[in-house]
Amino acid sequence: MAVDAKALRIEGIYQQNDAGQFMLRVKLASGLLSVVQANSLARLGQKYGSGTLHLTTRGSIEFHALEYEQIPLVQRGMTEVGLFSRGACGGAVRGISCSTGFGRGFNHSQVLGRKLLMYFSGNPYFEGLPKKFKIAVEADYNGSRHLIQDLALVYVGEEQGEARYDVWIGGGLGRAPQAAILYQQQVPEKELLALTEAIIRVYAANVEPPKRLKTLIAKKGEAGLRRLLDAELATTSQVCFSDSFDKTVLPVSGECADLKLLVPVFAGELPAGKLEQIAGAATAAGVDYLLVTADQDLALLPNDQARRKQLVAALSTAGFAALDEPQRVMRICPGNHECRMGLSATRDLAKRLRQHFTCRLNGHELAISGCPNSCAQPQLADIGIIACKRGAGEHDRCRYDIYRRTNEELGIKVGESLTEEALLIHFEDLL
Ligand code: SF4
Repeated sequence: MAVDAKALRIEGIYQQNDAGQFMLRVKLASGLLSVVQANSLARLGQKYGSGTLHLTTRGSIEFHALEYEQIPLVQRGMTEVGLFSRGACGGAVRGISCSTGFGRGFNHSQVLGRKLLMYFSGNPYFEGLPKKFKIAVEADYNGSRHLIQDLALVYVGEEQGEARYDVWIGGGLGRAPQAAILYQQQVPEKELLALTEAIIRVYAANVEPPKRLKTLIAKKGEAGLRRLLDAELATTSQVCFSDSFDKTVLPVSGECADLKLLVPVFAGELPAGKLEQIAGAATAAGVDYLLVTADQDLALLPNDQARRKQLVAALSTAGFAALDEPQRVMRICPGNHECRMGLSATRDLAKRLRQHFTCRLNGHELAISGCPNSCAQPQLADIGIIACKRGAGEHDRCRYDIYRRTNEELGIKVGESLTEEALLIHFEDLL
């Protein structure tokens, strides 16, 4: 049966390979999932697809290598526990990512991220966009993830009992990385929905597919974009979120930051059976929620020290070791292990780097992307690697660009089109 793979994208599904297998991306509210949901995904993951779930840098979870016939079965299982994938791919407002570093605005950002996800997912006014539209709600400026979003809302404090956000627009990575510009400062939360709608409408009306919002800044200049937005805002009704009780029932809190337990997941590759074990350990310790972190790991959030101890014991029994040791940050996209766009075997390269440099990697944030799309956000790591092309006539031998980041801006390219041998030498110099 012929499958229209392009039409499936809006449902969060990409064709993954020529064998006709698919990736399905689950949109999580701010990277958060309950133990019940985790168990459900774990069971589905063991039954369908590759048996391994992939944690993304934007707080989503992906099933890989699904057969077409398995997709409705997975979606049915997700629906049973309140999960969905609508708009996780294609020209839509994608999953709302939230910073997971427990900064001072963590609680606010979690609530706002959840509201935005609910509002824009499956809303036909905001589907059929020229390309993806990425929104992040950040608890503070740590990590500088606001620089790489189409729209980033950064919590900056409260005034008269209302949260305020700086608004950044027009960022993005890919072949032409561009840092976002600061559009407005200290915007009250109640004005953010109308502002977000206006920005998306300007994007939809002025950008040709398949381009991102950042191209509008290149075309019109910052002043030109501001004029378009002013005109749009003048006609936008002041729709705003009503206040809700989710501020008080939100299951995670920035106050738990010290209790957080990180379960490292190499390259975000989490065997579905392991997720079931983690969910089981969480249940045994009375912990109800898990968080997919921005570095593709899992965080568990016990309420007190006693539960934390119980959790460490239960996870150790299940074979998870070194939970309390400082973790190495290594963001790694699927590369050509599983992605059609991938030019290199990213996980294999990461393992070789680990072997070569062992503990010298500690304290350095590393990110590897299998193509210039930069899904692992290499320009935000201390050292970033991007597979840029295959060496001409060298069959499988890939070439790499290497990036170095030493300030709060995007990292800059310090080596270009390197063979793996040259990359290793360059990498050693940077450590
Ligand atoms: S960076 Fe490229 S290879 Fe890696 S997941 Fe994204 S599109 Fe695929």
